[in-house]
Amino acid sequence: MTFDNLSPVLSDALTARGYEALTPVQTHVAEDEARGRDLLVSAQTGSGKTVAFGLAMADELIEDGRLPFAASPLALIIAPTRELALQVSRELSWLYGKAGARIATCVGGMDASKERRNLSQGVHIVVGTPGRLRDHLERGALDLEALRVAVLDEADEMLDMGFREDLEEILDATPETRRTLLFSATIPKPIVQLAKRYQKDALRISTVGEDRGHGDIAYQAVTVAPADIEGAVINLLRLHEAETAMLFCATRDNVRRLHASLIERGFAAVALSGEHSQNERNHALQALRDRRARVCVATDVAARGIDLPTLSLVIHVEIPRDAETLQHRSGRTGRAGKKGTAVIIVPYPRRRRVDGMLRGARINAEWMDAPTAADVRQKDQERLIEKLLAPVEHEPEDLELAARLMAERSAEDIAASLVRAHRALMPPPEDLLDNGPRGRDRPERGERGERFERPERGGGERRDGFEDSVWFRLNIGRHQNADPRWILPLLCRRGHVSKNEIGAIRIGPKETMFNIPRAIADRFAEAVVRTANQDGEDDSGVSITPAPDGPTYPPRRDKGPRDAGPRGAPGGHRAGPRGPRGLGGPGGNTERYKPKPYGQRSPRRPSK
Ligand code: AMP
Repeated sequence: MTFDNLSPVLSDALTARGYEALTPVQTHVAEDEARGRDLLVSAQTGSGKTVAFGLAMADELIEDGRLPFAASPLALIIAPTRELALQVSRELSWLYGKAGARIATCVGGMDASKERRNLSQGVHIVVGTPGRLRDHLERGALDLEALRVAVLDEADEMLDMGFREDLEEILDATPETRRTLLFSATIPKPIVQLAKRYQKDALRISTVGEDRGHGDIAYQAVTVAPADIEGAVINLLRLHEAETAMLFCATRDNVRRLHASLIERGFAAVALSGEHSQNERNHALQALRDRRARVCVATDVAARGIDLPTLSLVIHVEIPRDAETLQHRSGRTGRAGKKGTAVIIVPYPRRRRVDGMLRGARINAEWMDAPTAADVRQKDQERLIEKLLAPVEHEPEDLELAARLMAERSAEDIAASLVRAHRALMPPPEDLLDNGPRGRDRPERGERGERFERPERGGGERRDGFEDSVWFRLNIGRHQNADPRWILPLLCRRGHVSKNEIGAIRIGPKETMFNIPRAIADRFAEAVVRTANQDGEDDSGVSITPAPDGPTYPPRRDKGPRDAGPRGAPGGHRAGPRGPRGLGGPGGNTERYKPKPYGQRSPRRPSK
């Protein structure tokens, strides 16, 4: 097969590699209108973007089917991480191998003097990370005066990682006449500014939608109560038992926490985030490659450039910031024609946002509940039976031992011990607090599903401590699957109180009110602020605010005379329109609760 529009030497290389067709991004960069021009390309990992910029720079490099002698580099590729730079270098080596290309890599953590030697011997293409390239430039080892083309790979990540100055210094050292190719998963404002400054009349290419077909990825959106996120992750890992799984968190703190929690439960897991040294990264990646570890917990940035062929499961533990990041993360699986699954964990309050994100990106995800412990056990049983019934040739020594066992115990006993021994190797699944109806089929506006017909907390029994209590509001209600089973643990976690310190929980269509003793209201409110992000929410989108007027909807009375007011408040709480009694509890102190302004409280710290 030949590839039209490409230099024959590159076409041959693609054929030899077994490629049958160009991917959309490769097709675009090889088109006539893209030739010789600066390009601003949004394409995700897995789209074949490395080969795409390899093809795009052919006109600047190949003369008469070969690369000419070059005293100083003709092409420069800058990538955010060492892994990505090495991967790019590997791809360009086979693509330009027959054309006689000499390629040098310059990356942090490698022997700098060896790199200097390579550079001094004359190379055509230099691939490197920003910091190390800048070092070589400043020491005079890297001469960019004859450069014809500069490529910024994963430019958004490089800016996120704080490499702007390095990039500017490097680009400023190149000739004005160079071609500049900017590849980025997303094109936020800083990238547009960078493009404006360093590109001329750039052609904008976006293949984010078209590329999706490249990987074979099944998307699942798993709805969970916010307090169940970790349990859902564990059950998903146990249900899929993927050879390699990658879990994405939004911050390095969350990576650390989830990683520690998985290790504690017996998963073979490694972590990758900005807080790890190059050495630790290498060890983690090696453990994944030689299967000592099967789970990798990572931030978006730290996972860049990682290509693990056995990766079949991606879990978005925290929702990606946009659809492009979603596709970028998911593109870690389903590579090279293999099937992969990308699961998005969707806390109830985030359902609409994720639905919108998926629709915007035209991704057809299957909405489902998180697997329960029973689902996992069922799957374990199937796997165990399959494994234990698989035909094996027994060693005589093993058969002899079997005979001795049979003499002592029944076959059933021995088989049960065998099952137990196998099960002991697997981390146990988690019991989830809530397993609501399926995400999309959830009862909507005005409907009351069976699951809400439970008594609100309080139950009418008298309880000391709630005679004088104050109301707070949660921004989630029945429409977001609000349920005391998961609201209680969430309140305890956010407000640093015990569940006995929470009184009534009254669930409305779109909000939930709950009350706590006035004596601890300030302490509770302060903890709530400390455990929130800048927007006053936790990572799941739940916000808690003082609600001095209390609920404006009636307590549920449909299952008997339950008190929806603070426990111990005789006669229950005010259920009607706002009035002077909605402050503490009837019979209690009716002074209005005035929360201290948030600015006067303790400083915030990151959530969770
Ligand atoms: P990338 O987006 O550059 O990370 O590439 C993802 C993977 O797709 C790499 O393993 C490439 O070697 C592979 N690839 C790139 N282009 C093609 C193509 N035209 N056909 C098949 N595989 C490709």
